[in-house]
Formats: sequence, C-alpha cells, structure tokens
Amino acid sequence: MWSLLGGVVVWRSQRLWMLGGNVIIVVAGLWGLCFLLFTQGGWVPLVPPLLAFLLSGTSVLAYKTVYQTYHDPLTGLANRRSLERKLQHLNHQNLNQCSELVAVLFIDVNRFKSINDGLGHQAGDYLLITLSQRLQQHLDSSQHLGRVGGDEFAIWLKPVKDKQEVVRFAEKLQQVLSQPLYWQGQEIYTTVTVGISFEETGKNFHGPELLRYADIAMHKAKALNSSRPQIFEPGMDTQAVQRWHLETDLRLGLAQKEFQLYYQPIISLKTGKIAGFEALVRWNSKTRGFISPGAFIPVAEETGLIVPLGEWILTEACRQIREWHERFPRNPALIMSVNLSGRQFSQPNLVKQIKTILDSAGIEGDRLKLEITESMMMNDVEAAISLLNRLKGLGLRLSIDDFGTGYSSLSYLHRFPVDTLKVDKSFVGRMEDGKDSHKYFQIVRTIISLGHNLDLDVIAEGIETEGQMKVLESLNCEFGQGYLFSRPLSSENAEALLAEENHSLL
Ligand code: C2E
Ligand code: MG
Ligand code: MG
Repeated sequence: MWSLLGGVVVWRSQRLWMLGGNVIIVVAGLWGLCFLLFTQGGWVPLVPPLLAFLLSGTSVLAYKTVYQTYHDPLTGLANRRSLERKLQHLNHQNLNQCSELVAVLFIDVNRFKSINDGLGHQAGDYLLITLSQRLQQHLDSSQHLGRVGGDEFAIWLKPVKDKQEVVRFAEKLQQVLSQPLYWQGQEIYTTVTVGISFEETGKNFHGPELLRYADIAMHKAKALNSSRPQIFEPGMDTQAVQRWHLETDLRLGLAQKEFQLYYQPIISLKTGKIAGFEALVRWNSKTRGFISPGAFIPVAEETGLIVPLGEWILTEACRQIREWHERFPRNPALIMSVNLSGRQFSQPNLVKQIKTILDSAGIEGDRLKLEITESMMMNDVEAAISLLNRLKGLGLRLSIDDFGTGYSSLSYLHRFPVDTLKVDKSFVGRMEDGKDSHKYFQIVRTIISLGHNLDLDVIAEGIETEGQMKVLESLNCEFGQGYLFSRPLSSENAEALLAEENHSLL
C-alpha cells in the first residue's frame, strides 16, 4: 500500500515544491501514526513502509523524467527530440538492408496565435489536443506522429512507394484538420500549412535534417501563401536560412527603431521649386549596415512586418510634413508622398489607420499623397476602386507609381480616382541615348499625354541629366524627381534645402 502511495504521489505532483510538500506530509503522517499507536501501546513498523514509499516514489520519478524528455505533456505525443531520435534510429535499423524512402510531413496550424490570444490559452490547448486526436485517428502503425513545436506537428512515414500518394495523404489531413471545432459554444475554424521532405535511408540519411527540410518547405508554402502541401527542393535551405536571418534582424530592427526616413524632393518643372517630397525608408541596421529598401521591403511584405513598419512610415512622414509646413509655410503647400505596399493596401483597417495618423499629426488629408502600383489594384479591381474612393474621402491624393512597368489595364485607368501618374525611371533614363532611345522617348511622351488627357498631373522619376529635364519640360511634364535635383536626403539635409530655398525666395 505504501509503495502504491509513493508512486501515485510522485506521478501526480506536477511541480518540485508540490512533490517536496507531498513527501514531507506523507512521511510526517506515517511517523505521526506510528508514534500515536506507540503511545497507545500499539506498534506499527516505520522503516519498511517508509522504504517502500521512497523506493517506489524514486522509481516513478525516474520513469517520469525519462517520459517527459521524450513526450509532450499536453498531447502526450512524442516530442521533437523523440521524433529525431526515432528517425535517426530508423537508419541504423536499415543500414544492412536495402534503402527505402522516408517522408516527413511538417504541419503548422495557421493563425494559432490569434486563437490563443483571442480566446485564451485554454482554447488553444483544446485546439491542439483535438487536432492531435484527429491526426492520430488517420494514422496507421507505419506513420508516427509527434508535436514538434507550439503549434507544429510532424509525421514520418515509411516505406514510401509513391511521392504523389504522400501529397494526397497530406491534402487529406489538411481537409480533416480544417473541419470546425467547438469551444464553449463557439465554432473555431483553422487551417494548416504542410511541408513535405523525402529521403532514402542509407549512408547519407540524417533524420533530424529531414525534419528541418520539411519545416523549410512548410515555411516556403506560407511565404507563397499556398494552401497546397509544399515539397522540399534542394537549395530551399540556403535561401531560407538567409531569409530567416534577414527576417529576425528585421524584427529586431523594428523593435530597436533602426529605421529612418529619407526624403527626395519633387520639383516643379515649371517653377524649378520644391513641390513636395517622397518619403523613402532606410534601414540602418546595427549588424548589416545601411540597407536600401529594395533589399528588405520584399521580406517585410512576405512576413507581414510591412504592416507595423508601414504604419510607422506614415506616422513619421505626416509628423515631418507638419513640422516643415509650420517652419516653411508655402503656397502651394508642400505635399508628402508615401509609398504603400501591397500588403498595406489589403489591410482591412487602412482607411481608419490613416485617418488616425492624419488626426494625430494635425494635418489635412490633401498634404499626403499615397503612391500605389498598378499591380496592387489588378487582383480585385472593384475592391481596389472602392478602397481608393474611401481614401479619397479622407481628402488624400493618390498617384500611380512606376507607371507602365506593372500589370495594368488601360480600360480601368479612367475609373481609378487618382491624381498623378509617375513615369518610371527605366523609361526616363533611356530616352536620351542608347539603342532604342527614340522608342523610350515615345513611351514617355505617350504616358505624359495619356495622363494629361485623363486630367492627371505627371511626375517623371529618375531624372539624371539636364537633357532629360529639357525633354520633359518640352513635353509639359509638371514635376520631376531625380539625382539631377537631389538624391534622397536625411531630414536634416532636406530641411537645410528647404531653408536655402526659403532664403532665396525672400
Ligand atoms: P520608388 O517608389 O519608385 O522610389 C524611387 C526610387 O528611385 C528610390 O529608390 C530613389 O532613391 C530612386 N531614385 C530617385 N531618383 C533617381 C535617379 O535619378 N536615378 C536612379 N537610378 N534612381 C533614383 P529607393 O529609395 O531605393 O527605393 C526603391 C523602392 O523601394 C521604391 O521605389 C519603393 O517602391 C520602395 N520603397 C522605398 N521606400 C518605401 C517605403 O517607405 N514603403 C514602401 N512600401 N516601399 C518603399
Ligand atoms: Mg514611389
Ligand atoms: Mg517609382
């Protein structure tokens, strides 16, 4: 009886202090019982039950420690360590036999964090337990399931005869896991992303790598926004490693405020004066140095980091234009252009966010111009037009950036409520010399007259020479931007430029 008690007490004690407390209570109770009986003239042996209690307790403790090393306490499934060990072991078993194909499926629960944050950790635990049970119901004895991360499961299967069969199996699991589940009367919908890796057992087989490859493939599927299982391909790992480093640094950079806005003047070609600025983000990374947006905006887009970064850019640009507006009052007033990324454009609360930013900066909507690209609008044209109209409702100005380089449809252009076309620098830069310069000149001329015919004003980007400026002036292009006038400047230098211009006006 005392052995049994020792086992139960140790097994059920979840924490060290609980274990210590329970052991002290039991030992003190036993000693008290013996002492009480002894004072009453009775006698029960103390040492044998104490030994039985401690021995069985120690054995259970040892078993529990080993069990917890290889199992996930929430779902009771094998953990990453156990899965890696089994995969490695698999190879030792097979070394003397002919090799066979092994597959690993890496399953990640989408939006798990928002379920956990929104409905609470208990709901999150319930979701994980239910999903693990559903997975277990669909596996046979040659398929081994484990929980390898917070919201990540992995399955390894062998022997695999047909890779496509594994893909179909993964698709079936995706379907099973996307069935709704119920938590306190609420329906929870969830989906999963799956990455798959294959490898033959043999000398070069390395189990833990197989798990890592499936993980990389899963992340690739996420990056591509793909709902289909993604198979690992060679080369994905180096790409992924570089990208992850960049992503980690980006997150850190955002937290440590390593970003800075530069401002490139936009010049009126009629008056030669500054009409406004385009805000261009720069990353001054502690580890990587000075990085231009072309290198990190795509990753920020892919990872969603562009949303907080974009919000900061808008806030900072509006604050800056307000400051300059107060220090250098002008007529017409300066306009700040801010680039908007695709991800920001599909942000459901964009209009509200911009309204809040304008209000807190204390500026009118028409001080801010958003630069969007044609490709961003072509996914769902009607939705894009409605969003642009709501943005116009805030008084904002809108311009189409890099016009002529993306997917566009001229049949929609007249329906977009935009104010400006920006002629891409790839056309402007080639219209003066080079093989097809005449053709580029015609493209620029056509874009400018297209803009004017639709009552839009036109900004030519990337003006680097006097010659280009003269040509653009002769085509009645209203505004120009480029190294000829100024490179993008830090806020201090842009301010100095404004002060200089102000001085010469006086
Ligand atoms: P963009 O919006 O077309 O910006 C103009 C780019 O042309 C800037 O590059 C600018 O430095 C460069 N540029 C200006 N004048 C000349 C010139 O005379 N010659 C040449 N060769 N280049 C010139 P940057 O700053 O590297 O930005 C590249 C792109 O990154 C931008 O193209 C924009 O699409 C994106 N980007 C920059 N800042 C932001 C931002 O704050 N948010 C978002 N979403 N995207 C941004
Ligand atoms: Mg731009
Ligand atoms: Mg551009």
